[in-house]
Amino acid sequence: MKYQETTPPVFTLTAGPVDAYPEVLRALGTTVLYDYDPAFQAFYESVVLKAQKAMGTDAPPLLLQGEPVLALEGAAASLIAKEDVVLNLASGVYGKGFGYWAARYAKKVEEIEVPYNTAIDPEDVRAFLKAHPEVKVVSVCHHDTPSGTLNDINAIGAVVAEAGALLLVDAVSSWAGMPTSPAACQAGVYVTGPNKCLGCPPSLSLVAVSDAAWAKIDANPDAPFASMLSFTDWRNAWKKTEPFPFTPSVAEINGLNAALDRYLDEGPEAVWERHALTAKICREGIKAMGAELWPVSEDIASPTATSVKMPGGIDAGPVLKEARARYGVSLSAGRNETLGKLIRIGHMGPTAQPGYALLAVAAMGGALKASGAKVDVAAGLAAAQATWDAAIDN
Ligand SMILES: *Cc1c(COP(=O)(O)O)cnc(C)c1O
Repeated sequence: MKYQETTPPVFTLTAGPVDAYPEVLRALGTTVLYDYDPAFQAFYESVVLKAQKAMGTDAPPLLLQGEPVLALEGAAASLIAKEDVVLNLASGVYGKGFGYWAARYAKKVEEIEVPYNTAIDPEDVRAFLKAHPEVKVVSVCHHDTPSGTLNDINAIGAVVAEAGALLLVDAVSSWAGMPTSPAACQAGVYVTGPNKCLGCPPSLSLVAVSDAAWAKIDANPDAPFASMLSFTDWRNAWKKTEPFPFTPSVAEINGLNAALDRYLDEGPEAVWERHALTAKICREGIKAMGAELWPVSEDIASPTATSVKMPGGIDAGPVLKEARARYGVSLSAGRNETLGKLIRIGHMGPTAQPGYALLAVAAMGGALKASGAKVDVAAGLAAAQATWDAAIDN
């Protein structure tokens, strides 16, 4: 028996988007209120304030009406002025990609780029900023999802603050899946969204903007307004007494509300622990079967996605097809530079459950074996289960 490509996968264990939590799906199906109905305006305010609680910010975050690429492009457009020099940190496809947006708005974009299975060294950032005091904005991706690797944004943030520049962070696939916050990394602009670890469908962006970043945006004559990219337009829209610049995504806000309730009720620490344990079980299984993790060191392996290096000569494409056809499990390919070289298993939101790590090890191992790789799937599964049991018994 095999699963057909034309029917949906039985299990989606991708690195985002992931299946939404059942509570979120139910909320998406509730009444779509008129946005200027006072009940909706009060509800909207309460959802943004809930997001503020979840993000731990001093001011309510911006809620933008599109998935986080909108906020990342909007951040570049709003924060970066024509005379600015930007330092872009690239340790993967998303980090590299932000540099292209930055280049549209900046006078100059400098870059520190490292191999996509490694991370940025904060000391390199320190040395660069010392030699280039003209740098106004430093941009970095926290979890570069196509590599499954983490940058130490808290250490980078401290270096950037010391140099008097503003840090712009893409925390889309890490926030709500591990301990990270705008305050901890001293971010000027911290972009995330509910479509990864919070378990919502892709549709909205959440952005924390510091007072210093707002001052810079206010002083930027080219910061967009009357635009879907505008930060300024949405700055006060959270207040029930203020108008919306455009119609907000009403149904998605119903979904976000349910996701935030779930996150806060389960408790952020418990949610992070669930993600970390799932990733650990998965990594132990992968290693024990004889496959290799993509990151050079487990210290930089993300708790929200595990990337597995393809053994020599094996292309990831057919392995992914095997996992889908044999086990009904959908996994993620790499992107651009990492395409074909690795496979990613997501541990985000509803899929951050230890049982899914066992399933992922089975599907990955079985598909690798069927593709001719020398892997010991039974050893991988035994190690994965032992890791799970050890966590239960401790
Ligand atoms: C998912 C994600 C985004 C959003 O971008 P899409 O390519 O549209 O999914 C941005 N940054 C990171 C790091 C992400 O993982």
